[in-house]
Amino acid sequence: MLRVDGLDGRVSVVTGATRGIGRAIAMALQENGSRVAALDLEAPQDDNILGLTCDVTDPDSVDAAFATVERELGTVSVLVVNAGIYPISPFEQTSLELWRRTLDVNLTGGFLCCRRVLPAMRSQGYGRIVTIGSSAGKAGGARSVAAYAASKAGLMTMTKSIANEYAAHGITANTLAPALIDTEMISGMRDLVSRIPVGRFGTPEEVAALVCFLASAHAGYITGEVTDINGGFLVD
Ligand code: NDP
Repeated sequence: MLRVDGLDGRVSVVTGATRGIGRAIAMALQENGSRVAALDLEAPQDDNILGLTCDVTDPDSVDAAFATVERELGTVSVLVVNAGIYPISPFEQTSLELWRRTLDVNLTGGFLCCRRVLPAMRSQGYGRIVTIGSSAGKAGGARSVAAYAASKAGLMTMTKSIANEYAAHGITANTLAPALIDTEMISGMRDLVSRIPVGRFGTPEEVAALVCFLASAHAGYITGEVTDINGGFLVD
């Protein structure tokens, strides 16, 4: 586990944190001394982490979850926008409903969470936002995932806009572009291992270490950055 400075006692929120990358991030932040709230459709149940039910597509649900975090833990300093869905659907068969649902979870969910925390971050003159984009948001995806790719491109660019708008307030906003991290989301994609130059999938813990660094005191001069974590799958 990566040990970083600047997280001790700070309040962090991670969305989509029941399993996979989000859970690894929540645990790594907690192990670095942060007071962590983990949000998901079903409340995460990890020791020493405040698990809360939250549907990131629902403004009332987002507001209620963040209000509970503020009451129980204090003002949020670190927000990790991680909740996401990955529907594979050939372009012509992509229904409007699926398109809208994907943008709702992956993009609008991020918007609602960022909009909810930024006023308090601005007031305290400090904040770290890390969003989990995707290499698909740069390159369109290795499967038929137009809605997903568009949602992630939007999330990554939204993160840059926040970086531009809030840098002077002590708030950084960075995004990751992972590919092929070993979680349930890509369990049907084992065939792609042979196309990864380092020869294996990435681990949720590797992504969590990168998030901890970007959320730490060491990264105050990094903002608006897109960081690849993909084993060489996409070099651009
Ligand atoms: P998982 O599917 O394992 O985890 C995603 C989590 O998000 C699930 O717990 C899911 O809950 C939750 N979630 C879904 N919809 C909502 C919602 N409306 N509100 C709150 N939580 C929700 O995926 P990963 O851990 O692999 O992915 C995490 C993030 O990383 C995603 O944004 C993904 O797009 C991104 N990413 C992953 C890559 C990979 O290779 N794994 C590569 C590039 C990006 P539930 O199970 O109940 O649906």
